Amino acid sequence: MENKIIIDIDNTLWDFSPVFWKHLRDINPDITPPQAWDRWDFWEVYVSKKELYDAIHRIHMDQEKYPPYGEAKPFLTSLKEKGFYIIIASHREQESFDGTVRWLNKYGLPFDEIYLSYDKSILFKDCCAIVDDSPFMLDKAKYAGIVRTGLLHPWNARTDHPLFNSLQEVLNYIESQCSSKGEDRKRNIPSLW
Ligand SMILES: [Mg+2]
Repeated sequence: MENKIIIDIDNTLWDFSPVFWKHLRDINPDITPPQAWDRWDFWEVYVSKKELYDAIHRIHMDQEKYPPYGEAKPFLTSLKEKGFYIIIASHREQESFDGTVRWLNKYGLPFDEIYLSYDKSILFKDCCAIVDDSPFMLDKAKYAGIVRTGLLHPWNARTDHPLFNSLQEVLNYIESQCSSKGEDRKRNIPSLW
C-alpha cells in the first residue's frame, strides 16, 4: 500500500543514545559519549557484541521509563491525519513487545501496527517510506527505491541520506516526497538520486 510508512523507535521517537551510553559505561567506563559516535560500529573497541545486545535489550525491557521526544506525538498524529498507515518497526526482541505497546499507549503515540524484527527491509515492498537513523536501513531503503529519511545523528551525518534536525522537518520532507498517488511518486523516483 502506498500510504504505509515505517517508523523506527530508538533515536527516532525517543532519545535512546544517552541511556545507551549510561548502560555501556557500566560495562566499560572508557566508552566515548554519543556526540563522538561518528560510526555505526563505534562500540566494537569497547564492548563485545553480546554485551552490546544485552544492554540494548535491558533498555527495551524498561522502555516505559523513558519518555519520547516532545515532537514524537505531534509527528505521528500529523502522519495519521495525512492518511498514512503507521508501522512502528524496531530492531528488538519479541519479549519486549508488550512493553513497547504499553510505551506507545502511555505516551499517546498513534500507530497502526508494530513490527519487531532484525530486518525491517522485508516491509519495504508494501511501504512508501521509512523514517530511521540507521545508515544500513537507509541504504537498503535507497536501493529498494522507497522514500527514506530520519533524524540527523553523528553516526549517520556522513551519509548522503536526507536527514534532518527535527521531526517537523522530517514530516515536511515526507509530505514533499510521498504523493497521495503512488504512481506519481514512482515516476518521480529517478530524479531524486
Ligand atoms: Mg533507531
